[in-house]
Amino acid sequence: MAQHYRIALLGATGSIGVQTLDIIRRMPERFTLVAAVAQSRWQELAKVAREFGVRRVVIGDARYEAVLREALADTHVEVLVGSEAIEHVVSTEDVDMVVNALVGYAGLHPTLRAIDCGKRIALANKETLVVAGDIVMAAARAKGVEILPIDSEHSAIKQCLEGEKRENVRNLIITCSGGSLRDVPRECLADITPHEALQHPQWNMGAKITIDSATLVNKGFEVIEARWLFDMSPEQIKVVIHPQAIVHSMVEFRDGAVKAQLGTADMHTPISYALLYPDRASEANTPFSMLDYPMLTFSDVDREKYPALDIAYDCLHRGGTAPCTMNAANEVAVAAFLAEQCRLTDIVATIRHALQHATFVERPTIEEYDRVDAEARELARRFIEGLH
Ligand code: NDP
Ligand code: MG
Repeated sequence: MAQHYRIALLGATGSIGVQTLDIIRRMPERFTLVAAVAQSRWQELAKVAREFGVRRVVIGDARYEAVLREALADTHVEVLVGSEAIEHVVSTEDVDMVVNALVGYAGLHPTLRAIDCGKRIALANKETLVVAGDIVMAAARAKGVEILPIDSEHSAIKQCLEGEKRENVRNLIITCSGGSLRDVPRECLADITPHEALQHPQWNMGAKITIDSATLVNKGFEVIEARWLFDMSPEQIKVVIHPQAIVHSMVEFRDGAVKAQLGTADMHTPISYALLYPDRASEANTPFSMLDYPMLTFSDVDREKYPALDIAYDCLHRGGTAPCTMNAANEVAVAAFLAEQCRLTDIVATIRHALQHATFVERPTIEEYDRVDAEARELARRFIEGLH
C-alpha cells in the first residue's frame, strides 16, 4: 500500500502553502493535514483548520490570537501562538512530514527541530539552507532525515540526478527566468517601484521571493541551496538565463550528456514531487506541451546589472556566517523597499554594508548564527535609516 503522511504545514496561507493544500485536498488517501501555521492571516488559517479538520494551528503574531480563538471556538482545534509553538507542532508524534513554506530566517529553527525529531521534510524555505546549510545537512545526515526540495530548480536537479553516480556529475546548471526586471536597463533600476518589481512574468509567488527574483538575490540563494543539498563545490554550480522558464534546471555529466527537467512554470509539480517522492502524482496540474514552446533560449547573466549573484558566490566561498549576514540584510532591505523606505538598488548596498561590518564567525554554532542574524539586521536597519 502507498505510504500515507500526516503533515504539519508551516506557512499554510502563503503561495507555496495554498498550493500544498491543493495537493493534500486532491489526495486524501496519501495525506492528512494535522497542523497548520501562519503569521497574521488568521481568517484564512481558521478556514484551513475547518476544511481539513486539523488538530492544531499556530498563529505567529500574538495580536491575532484572540480573534483566531473566537473563530474556532466551536471546534476542537488547539490554538497556539508564537515561534516556540511552531517548534512544538513539528515535533508531535502524530506528524510524519513537515512542509516548511515559511519565509525567511523564521524557517530555520523549525527545520532543525523537525530534523531532530526525525520527521521527513519538504523544504520550500530556502533561507534555512542559505543561513545554516552546514549545520542543517549535518543534522539531517546524522538523523537519517531526508530533505526534499520544493524549489523548482532543486527539484529539477534532484530528478536529473536520480539513478546517477555522483562522481559522474560535472556541473549543476540552474536556470533563471530573469525576474520582473529582466527587460529593464540597469540605469533604470534605481527608479523601479515595488509595484513594478512585484510583476513577475512567470511565477506568482510571495512578495519577498518576487523581489529576490528581481534582484537575483534569489538565484544567488539557490546556488547556496544547491551547494548544500547536492554537496557540490561553488565552481560546479552555474547559472544561465532562460526567460521561458520551461527548463527548470539541468545536470551536466562528465561524458558530455546534459539532463534537463522541463514542464510548465507551475509549483504544483515540484511540491507534489517532494511530498510523494519517490512516487509521483498521477495527474498534472497544468499539462505541458513542447509544441506550445517552439523556442527555448539561454544566455549568460549580466553580472553588472545583477551584482547580487557574485555576492552570493563570494559568501559561499567565505563560508561561515557570511551567507547568514547576506540573508539577514536582504530580509531587512526587501521589507524596507516594499514599504517604500529605500530604493531597489539599496538592497545590494545594504547587503554589502552588512557584510563589511558584521562579525564573521568561521565555524558558527546555531546560537552564533542567531547572534549574527540579529547583528546584521541591526546594521541593515541603521544603514537604511542613514540613507534619508
Ligand atoms: P508567502 O509570503 O506567500 O507565504 C509565507 C507564509 O509563511 C505565509 O503563510 C505566512 O503567514 C507565513 N509566515 C511568514 N513568516 C512567519 C512567521 N514568522 N511565523 C509564522 N508564519 C509565518 O511566501 P512564499 O509561499 O512565496 O514562499 C515561502 C518560502 O518558499 C520562501 O522561503 C520562498 O523563498 C520559497 N519559495 C517560494 C516559491 C514560490 O513559488 N512562492 C518558489 C520557490 C521557493 P501569513 O500569510 O499570515 O503572513
Ligand atoms: Mg526557485
